[in-house]
Amino acid sequence: MEQLLIGFGSNLGDRTVALRAALHSLSCVPGLRLLAQSALYETEPIADLPQGLFLNACALFECNLPPQIVLAHLQGLEARHGRTRSQVGAPRTLDLDLLLQGERCMATASLVVPHPRMRERGFVLIPAAEIAPKMVHPQSGKTMLQLRHELPADCGVRRFGEWVEAEASG
Ligand code: ADP
Ligand code: MG
Repeated sequence: MEQLLIGFGSNLGDRTVALRAALHSLSCVPGLRLLAQSALYETEPIADLPQGLFLNACALFECNLPPQIVLAHLQGLEARHGRTRSQVGAPRTLDLDLLLQGERCMATASLVVPHPRMRERGFVLIPAAEIAPKMVHPQSGKTMLQLRHELPADCGVRRFGEWVEAEASG
């Protein structure tokens, strides 16, 4: 069994509904068991294209699936939520990223683990440090908490709420 850290994002449509549905669907996949979910965070988009704020979160699972199968589940869910890949950095109804799977390191054409951009992203490291502070990023040897402390003071990530409260408020 390995620990699997997944990043969630949405900035199009009903963001909370999309993240909740994706979390529920992933927790029902045979071979995955939900261990923890972070709070929801609201994040300024990093792309140059004008677009709405993101909601981001992370979830931690116990996993006994190979990474390619995990990615296939993530991409299947993105497609079910109407995600289209029009342009790099375009707004998206649902973005699911495989961030860490144990301390695996791999790079194929379709899958790079750890996720290559996670070390600079506050919207990944802040929720990741909340639920998996001791999980190690294998290439740097640093924990999620250590990497989170290396972020700039204001990285444009604000706590938005819990999944249930967020749904109730709209
Ligand atoms: P980002 O999430 O960095 O904004 P996209 O979601 O648009 O980028 O990128 C999706 C592409 O990234 C997919 O084609 C997928 O094959 C590839 N990819 C490589 N590594 C990963 C990973 N660890 N998690 C999710 N997608 C990945
Ligand atoms: Mg992605």
